[in-house]
Amino acid sequence: MISVAKAERLILENIEFFSAEKISLEKAIGLALREDIFIDRDYPPYNRVTMDGFAISYVDWKKGLRSFEIKGSQPAGKQPLKLTNAGESIEVMTGSVIPDNADTIIPIERIQKKNNNRIEILGNLSLRKGQFTHKQGSDIRSGKKVLEKGIFLKSPEIAILASAGFNKLSVAKIPKIAIISNGDELVEVADKTNFFQIRSANDRAIEASILARRIGKVSRYIIKDKRKKILEKIIKLHSTHDMVILTGGVSMGRYDFVPGILEELKIDLVFHGISQRPGRPMWFGMSKESKPIFALPGNPVSTMVCMNRFIVPALNYALSTKRSYPEKIVLKKKVMFSPNLTYFVPVITNIDNNGIIKGNPITTNTSGDFISLANTDGFAELKKGSKIFKKGYSANLYRW
Ligand code: AMP
Ligand code: MG
Repeated sequence: MISVAKAERLILENIEFFSAEKISLEKAIGLALREDIFIDRDYPPYNRVTMDGFAISYVDWKKGLRSFEIKGSQPAGKQPLKLTNAGESIEVMTGSVIPDNADTIIPIERIQKKNNNRIEILGNLSLRKGQFTHKQGSDIRSGKKVLEKGIFLKSPEIAILASAGFNKLSVAKIPKIAIISNGDELVEVADKTNFFQIRSANDRAIEASILARRIGKVSRYIIKDKRKKILEKIIKLHSTHDMVILTGGVSMGRYDFVPGILEELKIDLVFHGISQRPGRPMWFGMSKESKPIFALPGNPVSTMVCMNRFIVPALNYALSTKRSYPEKIVLKKKVMFSPNLTYFVPVITNIDNNGIIKGNPITTNTSGDFISLANTDGFAELKKGSKIFKKGYSANLYRW
């Protein structure tokens, strides 16, 4: 048995980055960027007006002028007009180019019009030079890197890509993941159950973790505990998928065929067994084609914990080529745990007035009791070596 930290390290060391592909901008939402993005123009690209109003020259204002001739009107998206004489102003809109020779904007709310060709200032207005303008290149200069490869694209990055003219861009290709549930007791969700059967749920939990994050495309298969059937299915699905995740049949029981089959298939074993609860029998190996194969213990809580503690970060890493680090929480109450294992305790989280995430630990009856997980947000990692984890203990949080 190896430690949780070592298991994580071995997975990240062995797993290979997924390939990249060019994709259109609207399909890239939530995906991992695989190229550095350089901006092709200054931002803002021109001296920009930030307020509907009248553009003037600050020199006039400083001289004490408070009434200006209206020289013209300049909407956004048009060539700039020009102030030619002292005492002139040009009507401008937010987003328009600052007219030539103008440098300061008087907001529309602060003027009144006179005879339709002059403006006068209402009340007392204090104005700074350059007020309500946004200088060309003050956010970024043309040619500079705006986005670093490896990030997952959220709405600001999508806006930046659009602004930089990236109609197509390179992102990590979403891997095809096969989920194989094995167990003689398992039936499909829609099927009738005998009292000695259960509906397969682990595959759905794994699928949910993947699809909710957009980090894989999933296909699910339920197979009986038949050695040959499982073996054939793994061979077939390994050839058509980038990753295989098995659930069930990985422990020491008479029908736990999975480790033996994976050995027979010459999958290179990286580890089998982690000093943790739940999920101790987790198995991980790499195929000759460098595809990761994970086999998770079938107890639903074990499957969910292993999935979110190890496989989700591995997928994020293989997609982004960068490591991600978990959030931290503090325990809301004391937890006792005597075995010399890392303990993953489910938690309900809330954020206190100081912005600290608090985790209220939930006890499950066994690692088969996934019903108790309802309404939890994830689980906290309580490190091996202590028996008592006090209220206030700071732990890594892994969300479902
Ligand atoms: P195993 O790891 O095959 O020994 O299974 C451990 C426990 O998890 C057994 O009670 C199984 O019935 C249950 N289990 C295994 N696979 C699934 C599944 N796909 N959905 C729900 N429970 C499962
Ligand atoms: Mg089983």
